[in-house]
Amino acid sequence: MNGPLLQVKDLKVAYGGIHAVKGIDLEINRGELVALIGANGAGKTTTLKTLTGICSPSSGEILFDGKSTAKKPIYDYIKQGLVMVPEGRGIFSRLTVEENLLMGAYTRSDKADIAHDLERVYYLFPRLKERMKQLAGTLSGGEQQMVAIGRAILGRPKLLLLDEPSMGLAPIIVQKIFDIIKMIAAEGVTMLLVEQNAKLALQTANRGYVMESGKITLADTAANLLANPKIQQAYLGE
Ligand code: ATP
Repeated sequence: MNGPLLQVKDLKVAYGGIHAVKGIDLEINRGELVALIGANGAGKTTTLKTLTGICSPSSGEILFDGKSTAKKPIYDYIKQGLVMVPEGRGIFSRLTVEENLLMGAYTRSDKADIAHDLERVYYLFPRLKERMKQLAGTLSGGEQQMVAIGRAILGRPKLLLLDEPSMGLAPIIVQKIFDIIKMIAAEGVTMLLVEQNAKLALQTANRGYVMESGKITLADTAANLLANPKIQQAYLGE
């Protein structure tokens, strides 16, 4: 299918009287890695939750692969390939690493392909292979982030939405996680990356959107955003 993989048109989302997303437009093309940056409370997480069907829009349109996602159950979103790695990771702490990973494949029945994808995750994260029988609740924060990304891969994402993958991790682990994100992107998975670490996000992405108080205020190539003095001052600590 031609055209963008994701098209968001004038999307608005409210929590009761709080307008978290105030009419945004976004487009993600196949194979792109797009960053969404912005201060705390700008509406980034709400945007991701709406794209994956967790929050409902009050108005606007979301087209995935050219088709509207409106009024579909969450199961359908995952089956279509819209898969999120949530902020805080959402690990099942009393399940093993492998059981957590396989939860990502719960909408699938293609056993041989699932086994293949599991091997791919163990190739990307050898640390998880070593610890496949360990209870996930006993893993380090970085290892839990690996499980969350691995679990999403088991969902065969067409569009992978990552919410703050660097949160709470030591710089060396963050680098490792971002190296893996780049490897997944290089394999052709389209991604939308929400990140507080704007510099790292823009160094990794092809394009970026800047969100402020529920609106998109700037959209440009990642290189232009990195070179933009306003962005440098507001988000890059320069
Ligand atoms: P952060 O980087 O801090 O996670 P964010 O850009 O992801 O911020 P959101 O979490 O989307 O921002 O929040 C946007 C706005 O919506 C904020 O003002 C927040 O307080 C509000 N909000 C988020 N979730 C809820 C909720 N469940 N009920 C009411 N208001 C909410």
